[in-house]
Amino acid sequence: MMSKPIYVIGGGPAGISAAVYLKRFSHEVSIIEPNPMVGGQVMIPSVIENYMGFPKGINGFELASILNQHITDLNIPVMHQKVTKVQKMESGYFSIALDNDEILQSPYVLCGIGTKNRPLNIPGEKEWAGKGLSTCGTCDGPLFKNKTIAVIGGGDTALTETLFLSTYAQHIHLFHRRDTFRGFDTLVQRITSNPAITIHFSSIPLEIHGEDTLNGITFKNLVTDQVFKIPVDGVFVFAGYIPDTSICNAIVDVDEKGYIKVNSEFETKTKGFYAIGDIASKSLRQIVTAMNDGAMAANHIHHSILNKTD
Ligand code: NAP
Repeated sequence: MMSKPIYVIGGGPAGISAAVYLKRFSHEVSIIEPNPMVGGQVMIPSVIENYMGFPKGINGFELASILNQHITDLNIPVMHQKVTKVQKMESGYFSIALDNDEILQSPYVLCGIGTKNRPLNIPGEKEWAGKGLSTCGTCDGPLFKNKTIAVIGGGDTALTETLFLSTYAQHIHLFHRRDTFRGFDTLVQRITSNPAITIHFSSIPLEIHGEDTLNGITFKNLVTDQVFKIPVDGVFVFAGYIPDTSICNAIVDVDEKGYIKVNSEFETKTKGFYAIGDIASKSLRQIVTAMNDGAMAANHIHHSILNKTD
């Protein structure tokens, strides 16, 4: 319907949903996703238990593969590039700069760039990243069969992945900085009843150690102020996510946590520029809400084009 394609930045569930809806509305649409596969953070969880249609849960990579198949079947192109900047031009179009120096133009852009892993910023974190320190249970869990590992975090990701990792590891030390978990009660119950998991509440990691290989973690109990060093073979960090809106900060407003402010149609303060999925300011970040955002934004774009309301 339009002469220039609509670009969706980010191939997570929000971007995939937006692209599928736009395609079904007969618009030309392209996804820009640097990774070889779409799916975004969907790929990471060992099991997703609250995505509808899979009552027994589904492995994240498996779901991502299904999503890949969906866009392939609909012939939605994916450009495997990284976006470096989005700007609004005097013409009213957006310019999208890619890291291969190409500049794309489009009257509508949907930004579904997700978030980044929150670093702990402690000694040893950078040194041992990918060498015993991991942020992906599915990817690295099998490397720790019958080993002792530490997990950091108290949210849904940390709890889900700790349960998954307990199927490989002999023992897991789970460190959470407060005395109650943030994650779902059903997960908490399974964690607390698992004898292979030792929970360290009110505890923060101070340093990750190693010589030739990662071999220990030092942590502090915030109640007693005592510091302990224990031997572990691996460390998994699930400390949540942080937004990075540097590619579009000139054309959006962000909330106090740095997420992009949107209206009920997921449009930002700049007409034609939408923020969808985890990068949008909202109260619930899930696969289903991300897909909702993409569908809502796509529908709004479609009706804006039909009604020429701009
Ligand atoms: P999260 O909910 O933000 O939890 C991050 C955890 O890391 C929190 O427990 C936090 O402690 C802790 N933390 C943060 N900074 C830390 C630091 N510097 N040192 C030590 N601990 C630190 O992140 P998430 O678990 O990845 O979940 C993100 C979103 O995805 C949530 O909305 C979650 O519900 C959703 N999710 C859903 C599912 C599912 O539905 N199946 C699965 C995974 C994730 P505090 O609790 O003290 O802040």
